[in-house]
Order: sequence, then C-alpha cells, then structure tokens
Amino acid sequence: MFRENLKKIKQEGLYRSLVCQMPEEGPVINIDGKPCLSFCSNNYLGLSRHPSIIKAGQNALEKFGSGSGASRLLSGTFPPHQELEMEIATFKKTEAALSFGSGYLANLALLTTLVDRGDLILADRLNHASLMDGCKLSRATFKIFRHKDMDHLKHLLSRKPSDQKTLIVTEGVFSMDGDIAPLPEIVALARAYHARVMVDDAHGFATLGDHGRGTAEHFGVENQIDVQMGTFGKAVGVYGAFVAGPKSLIDYLINKAKSFIFTTALPPAVPSMCIASLRIISQNPKLRETLRKNQAYFTTRLAQIGFSVQNNPTPIIPILVGDVFKTLDFSKALFDAGLFIPAIRPPTVPEGMSRLRISLSASHTTEHLDTCIKQLEICGKALGIL
Ligand code: PMP
Repeated sequence: MFRENLKKIKQEGLYRSLVCQMPEEGPVINIDGKPCLSFCSNNYLGLSRHPSIIKAGQNALEKFGSGSGASRLLSGTFPPHQELEMEIATFKKTEAALSFGSGYLANLALLTTLVDRGDLILADRLNHASLMDGCKLSRATFKIFRHKDMDHLKHLLSRKPSDQKTLIVTEGVFSMDGDIAPLPEIVALARAYHARVMVDDAHGFATLGDHGRGTAEHFGVENQIDVQMGTFGKAVGVYGAFVAGPKSLIDYLINKAKSFIFTTALPPAVPSMCIASLRIISQNPKLRETLRKNQAYFTTRLAQIGFSVQNNPTPIIPILVGDVFKTLDFSKALFDAGLFIPAIRPPTVPEGMSRLRISLSASHTTEHLDTCIKQLEICGKALGIL
C-alpha cells in the first residue's frame, strides 16, 4: 500500500528524501563532496558551533553522562534542567518556565492541557503542524481564522457564547512566510472577548525584540500574552523547547501534560548548552543587529532584481513560485550553482504555494548574500520565474 502511495507522491512532485550535510565554515556546508552555501537553516544567529556552547556540552557530558535515564518526574531531572528553566524565566521575565524535549512536544503539551472538551480554540490558518496536531488532540472545538485576518477572528469571537473558555493560538513569526502575527490587535480582541492568547515563538525567540525576548517584546505586549512557547533548536542553536508563564501554569503542565510526563528528559548536556547559548544571546545584541542588517540588505537586493518581497524584520524570506515542479527545478538549479535552498511544498505550505524558503543567519557575510542574490537572478531568469 505504501509503495503505491509513494509512487503517487513521486508523480505529484511531493517526494522527500534526506540530504546529509557536513558543516564546514559558518554557513558553508558540504553535501556529497560538494561545498555549498546554506540558506535554509534556522540556526539564525550562527550559534550551533560556538566554542563556549560546545565546551558547556562537553563539561556536562563529563559530569552527568550521556543520557538522562528517565522522564523528568522520575529520575530524569538534573541541575542543568532546573538552571535552564530559571534562566528562561529570568530571560522572558515570567514567573516560571518549563523545558521540553522539542517544540512539537511543547505544543502538544499546551494544547492538550490548557483547554478541554467544550472549550474553543481559534487558530491562525498558517499555524505550524505541531499546533494543528495539538488542536486536534485537545478535544476542544477548534476553528481556524484566515491568516492574520483580525475581522475574521473578531467574527468568530463574537459568535461564541460569552462564557465559553477560549484560547487564541498563533505563531509569533510564521515559519514559512516570515511575517509577524499582529499581536497588539490579537491581545485587544482577546481582552474584549475574554479569551486567552498562546504564542508559538519558535522563530521570534532570540531574533526579535531589543533583548531577543521575541515577538511579544517586539510589540511591547509581553505582559498581555498568557502563554509563550519557544524553541532551542533554532536561534539558540541547540535542541528542545520551553514554555514560559505563570507558576500555576508550569505546575499544571508538570502534572497534566502527557508529552512532558511520558517521555525521557533531555540529556543534561542539552540544557547546559542552552544555558551557555542564552548567555551569549543576552550579552551580544550585535548578533541580532547583524541578522537584521542582513535581512534589510538581502530583501532590498531581492526587490532590486525584481522579486516580490515583503519587508518583514525576520530572517525568513519566502520566494513564492507556486508550481511544485518549477520550485523543484529552481532549487536544483541553485544547488548546481552551489546554494542549498530546498523546495518547500505541500503539505508544509498550501496547494499552489510552493516556494523557496530562504533563511538568513548572522553568520552570512555580505559576500555570501551577494552570491545568493546573483544565483537567484541567474537561475530565476533561466527558468522564467523572474
Ligand atoms: N513551532 C514552529 C512554528 C516551528 O517552526 C517548529 C519547528 N519547525 C516547531 C514548533 C517544532 O519545534 P521542534 O523542531 O523543536 O520540534
């Protein structure tokens, strides 16, 4: 049965396979012996090979061993887990925080514990698959509002019974579009209709806001968001995720969230590396400035060569192609020219919205950016995309 399905997936241009890379210097990687410039990693601040983060991991491996050996509530909690949770709460200025095995698990945890049968979830149409899966598992009624459409959100809120417990769920920075959720409008609507707000800031955390606290800081609405989630696998350059919020929420998650309770705790070296990375992020605002400068330069140059681009202050820049096969051809031509930018296709993005998702890093130099622009222009023109 899956052979037939695979055949169909291939015919539709939706077949995916794993590409193995060897890191070289900065954003330079090597794929099957071919050096390439990577423009698709979420390692936005270029921290994943920072010597002091690696050192922190090595020290923790020596001290605590390779694995945690159990779930957090059994014997899987080590000092680095607790230190990281304190660091995150301080960094995010919340009462408490909890770390998770991954962002996927954190989202499942939140959506299956924050709401119950009879409650209502209102979710942005472009929310990440982990949020959508969490909504489906939640047992609450689950409705989708059109992407960032505040009139639609208001309409859905106005039709609900006033006493129905409601959670509005959005990404801070949308992972495939790089645009930012209108959090001030969302929190105003939430207030007016007595709803709570959950923000998945996987891509905003450590990249947005004067201090890197993310999308809520960017808009100055931090104390109006009920629950914030972020990940350690992207700008932080490590792995795992967190939820930051009131202590009662964190206690509740520890007691109720299955994707926290029934899974082995992160190896202690992971939270140790996250702590080291958070310190670098706090002490080096220049990393975010460089990323922002790269984004401004890159989008200006993209627009100059004729691509239609939005000027979002985020490191994610989509180049919409539409057709699946054309997007694959574009990605292949760029790969031949030494750039690694995989095609993003359904179901990751809606039908007809296939694209190249370019992600920038503070480790890209102007020369790297210019090389990318030049090849996008050459390949885009050759394929009739530009
Ligand atoms: N939320 C968003 C918006 C994401 O982009 C991702 C990862 N792509 C996740 C959650 C899941 O995080 P993780 O990779 O840590 O499971």
